[in-house]
Amino acid sequence: MSDPTYLAANWADVRRRVDEACHAAGRDPAGVTILPVSKTFGAETVRAAMALGLRRFGENKVQEIRDKAAALDGCGIEWVVIGHLQTNKAHDVARLASEVQSLDRPQLAAALHRQLVAAGRTIDVLVQVKTAAEESKYGLDPAQLPAFLDSLRDYPTLRPRGLMTLATHSDDPRLVRDCFRQLRELRDEAVARGHDLPRLSMGMSGDFPLAIAEGATEVRIGTAIFGQRPQPTVIPAAG
Ligand SMILES: *Cc1c(COP(=O)(O)O)cnc(C)c1O
Repeated sequence: MSDPTYLAANWADVRRRVDEACHAAGRDPAGVTILPVSKTFGAETVRAAMALGLRRFGENKVQEIRDKAAALDGCGIEWVVIGHLQTNKAHDVARLASEVQSLDRPQLAAALHRQLVAAGRTIDVLVQVKTAAEESKYGLDPAQLPAFLDSLRDYPTLRPRGLMTLATHSDDPRLVRDCFRQLRELRDEAVARGHDLPRLSMGMSGDFPLAIAEGATEVRIGTAIFGQRPQPTVIPAAG
């Protein structure tokens, strides 16, 4: 949706709800950033959001970043990758992204580093950790996090700044909150081992107050700002 009034109202409402969640948790609202997730919405929607002062946008497909970056060339947008990345997309990511929050495996770290060296750039990265039980959720196995964080020291183009997760999809807030708590505890353990990881990217439109209660420093908000995304067409399998 690119109607400026609609976007402005949604943005103000999300900011107010984030502030409320911070107050409820005894936290300073300045400690929680909102990352608007513009995936599936076009360049005109991003342009309308820029009129509200927004400059950082989360996207889950590299092709969409390519298309929107081309349409909005020179606007000074920071594109944040939040979706599962194939290593063959590393070249475009190294060129176009300001940050990757979905770093979830050694091969991807190696591929990104190689392309970033070639591009002469460094980027911030968050390690995506799997805290939900569902098979469909990507992310590093928590047991592999310590070794993975240590291995990133071999890739000076990647600046690890924190952790990211997607909580389980559940009507039971306790199960959702368990995922966020687990991410915070993993971060605290890594910090105790000497890593500098101030950021926790967790919480989306449906669950961000729980994430803020567990220490989120950044919530990734799509639907509550931009409206419902068009549902993907599901083609029934033959047979
Ligand atoms: C789409 C997406 C979001 C935003 O989801 P909403 O429920 O629309 O707020 C957040 N994080 C990731 C990784 C996403 O893919």
